[in-house]
Amino acid sequence: MTRWLTDQASSATIRTTPVDRLLAITRQSLRLPGARFCDWSHMGKLSAKRSGDAAIAGKIAFLLASLLFPLLAQATTPKNKASQAVQRGCGSGVVLKISAGVAAQGSLLLAEVRGLVDAQKVKAEWDGRPVPLWQETQQSARVLHGMIGVDLEKAPGSYDWKISWTAADGSPATCGVPITVRSGKFATEKLTVEKQYVQPDSEQQKRAEEDQKKMRAIFDTVTPEVLWNGKFRLPLKGDVAGRNFGRRRVLNGEARSPHTGIDFPAAAGTPVYAAQAGKVALAENLYYSGNTVVLDHGFGIYTLYAHLSEIGVRAGATVAASAEIGKVGATGRVTGPHLHWGLTIDHARVNGLQIVQKQP
Ligand SMILES: [Zn+2]
Repeated sequence: MTRWLTDQASSATIRTTPVDRLLAITRQSLRLPGARFCDWSHMGKLSAKRSGDAAIAGKIAFLLASLLFPLLAQATTPKNKASQAVQRGCGSGVVLKISAGVAAQGSLLLAEVRGLVDAQKVKAEWDGRPVPLWQETQQSARVLHGMIGVDLEKAPGSYDWKISWTAADGSPATCGVPITVRSGKFATEKLTVEKQYVQPDSEQQKRAEEDQKKMRAIFDTVTPEVLWNGKFRLPLKGDVAGRNFGRRRVLNGEARSPHTGIDFPAAAGTPVYAAQAGKVALAENLYYSGNTVVLDHGFGIYTLYAHLSEIGVRAGATVAASAEIGKVGATGRVTGPHLHWGLTIDHARVNGLQIVQKQP
């Protein structure tokens, strides 16, 4: 049981991973035109033109990168001073806590409010957008929880996380904590390709726009319930490494949309599991993302699974945590089989690994 407290709901230290850098170097030395998985930046035709040699070279590059990743990751992981939690006393025993006072673009922040005994009309917001709070009923003291997603393109700066309430004596009260957003360190890939390969035709463009409209309608809907139960998990079993989150691509000098999810390399047919319990908001074929499943976990939290070879669920169905929802494939605008996994929190595109690592 959870309590709905506000009207509606609201992005990991992101850095260029050693794998990204190694792949870039390998690609350069093999003269590959950006051999990589998701080609959502109107690159469908280019990817279809990849030669067999390029595909093999891509596989070698990936294998090399996978082997070297643990070594490189250890050597290059920066000391993260920014991840210090911030706590603020607001008087009358009310305490606000945020998991980090400084957060990179693409991060997830955990918020907590304690001591709001007998308070009414409790509302939370971040940068003017409502942040829904829920209460764990098994706790004796009233502790409210919330999740804040920092979109991967949110302008760096300081944004207040604010709580307002009406105290037991009827007086209004507010309290806030500033959260500094800093730029995420994302890989940037610069490519020069012939124009015909980067312009989708009008039919393709129309389809992509319709898909986008559909997705917007889904993310605009905030289910006022916590549908998840426990920790979020990775969508693939075993020891998997995701990459490409937030990667920027510049085509012919023109910046394209960033890569909004994580790509997990996996063989076609590998089962894909629900990161947590939820309701199927979408289960269909889309132009860029191919066979796609979107799960609504409640409170504005959605996970997306793209490029599936098979979809195993229907829109509207309820799924349990770790239920199989489809299989890894290469549908949509991609260069090879993999799972593209996205996390959205109140429209903010967040690194999904964060919800797996940070959620208590
Ligand atoms: Zn992707």
